[in-house]
Amino acid sequence: MQTTTESHSLEVTGKTLTMADIGKLQPPFVLAPLPYPAASLEPALDAKTMEIHHDKHHQTYVDNLNKLIADKKDTKDLQTIITTLTGKEKGIKNNAGGHWNHTFFWTLLSGDKEKTKMPDRLKSEIESTFESVEKFKEAFEKAALAQFGSGWAWLYRDGSGKLAITTTGNQENPLMDVATVKGRPIFTVDVWEHAYYLGYQNKRADYLKAIWNVVNWVQVDAYDKEVTAH
Ligand code: MN
Repeated sequence: MQTTTESHSLEVTGKTLTMADIGKLQPPFVLAPLPYPAASLEPALDAKTMEIHHDKHHQTYVDNLNKLIADKKDTKDLQTIITTLTGKEKGIKNNAGGHWNHTFFWTLLSGDKEKTKMPDRLKSEIESTFESVEKFKEAFEKAALAQFGSGWAWLYRDGSGKLAITTTGNQENPLMDVATVKGRPIFTVDVWEHAYYLGYQNKRADYLKAIWNVVNWVQVDAYDKEVTAH
């Protein structure tokens, strides 16, 4: 296999990605295709929503980020950009976060029944923290509903390595040096209206209930093993 030190785009089809793969993305950033057909998450997420969300919204974050860093001599990878935001303009935070968060989010969804079945290892981790998978989902939905305006809900490992739930506003991400809540994310749901408005209008609660049908728990388990390994 040919290796290259420069990676602008992820080829995610059929592969279990690592968070390190996302962090190593290099400018100029390129939008990778969705790792599955846009209609494959129906009926939970309709094809039109997925197409607009990916092709228009995510593309805009990528384009804006490239513009904002075009004149910078130190072209850093995405991981470095989101962890050295102090002192940088807010646009870089919003658009680098937008690129990282959406790249991560696409990998967390699947219409493949093999992938939407929660692996036993992750199940027992969730049960030991939240008592049951159902209680975890309830707590996650509650947090996601309480996020006022645009943002993301996260399942992450906190500073002590414990699984926890949090939300962030706009495109903030717990990995950021400037994040209000810091940790290592293993799962997230986009709660911006653009993620659900076509299919669910203002009913964020219905979107949150439906999304459990298309969560790629195999990928969440892989991310959890990656972040707990070091
Ligand atoms: Mn979004």
